Amino acid sequence: MLKNRTAIVTGSTSGIGLGIARGLAAQGANLLINGFGDARETRRVCAQLAEAHGIEVRFHGADMSQPAEIRDMVTFAASEFGGVDILVNNAGIQHTASVADFPEERWDAVIAVNLSAVFHATKAVLPIMRAANWGRIVNIASVHGLVGSINKSAYVAAKHGVVGLTKVTALEMAQTGVTCNAICPGWVLTPLVQRQIDDLAAREGITKDEAQRRLLAEKQPSGDFATPEQIAALTAFLCSDAAAQLRGAALPIDGAWTAQ
Ligand code: NAD
Repeated sequence: MLKNRTAIVTGSTSGIGLGIARGLAAQGANLLINGFGDARETRRVCAQLAEAHGIEVRFHGADMSQPAEIRDMVTFAASEFGGVDILVNNAGIQHTASVADFPEERWDAVIAVNLSAVFHATKAVLPIMRAANWGRIVNIASVHGLVGSINKSAYVAAKHGVVGLTKVTALEMAQTGVTCNAICPGWVLTPLVQRQIDDLAAREGITKDEAQRRLLAEKQPSGDFATPEQIAALTAFLCSDAAAQLRGAALPIDGAWTAQ
């Protein structure tokens, strides 16, 4: 149980981040929700989580591409809750194009949100976690932190960077109560992946169901999507005392994608 723990989950207004927020709420953790999207819907979700689990929930709309806003979000969480015990670096974006055609502005944006934000948030929470001598940092990387795919240069570079940063953070914190690990999902059916399915269907002139089947068949041997709930369950385990010596790992949930 994570009662009386406080968790920041970046990018938790949608997809995997929202699933992780729900999972940590079910364990009794107080939550700082972050991300973009419809403000009314976000307020509704925050109120529903607080009500269903008897926890405190706050929202901070920091843009993860802006280091000052990230620092402000961590300061806000610490002052609202009296500390920060868990940081889940989840916010992420995608852009697909070959290296030769990759727009420089998109490269910078993907690196800022998917990699640099993890550094800025980690740097901001470490003094708080070290003072408490307890902390859990869970970085949502990707199979693309372990292997490459064409047309995803910025994403693959950022996610490999996240896995590297995870190892260094774990090593620097090895003799403290602060752990850092990465989760490396394969395909999870979220808005981020739905956009790629829609693009494939439009490009190939096929139905969305067929595009979905092709996407899975190409990479994920199980033929099934991983789910936000499964990512959330592993996150909750990494936040438990049972995982105190699980440090610096990059754990795939990928239907055997990276076993090939
Ligand atoms: P999603 O698009 O459903 O959710 C992304 C979240 O990040 C949203 O809450 C969005 O508002 C937020 N976000 C985006 N840019 C932001 C910014 N600048 N500042 C603050 N918040 C921002 O995507 P998802 O599939 O749930 O992805 C979540 C994470 O999981 C990402 O890091 C992604 O790379 C990773 N991941 C996803 C998959 C997959 O198959 N869906 C696989 C591996 C890894």
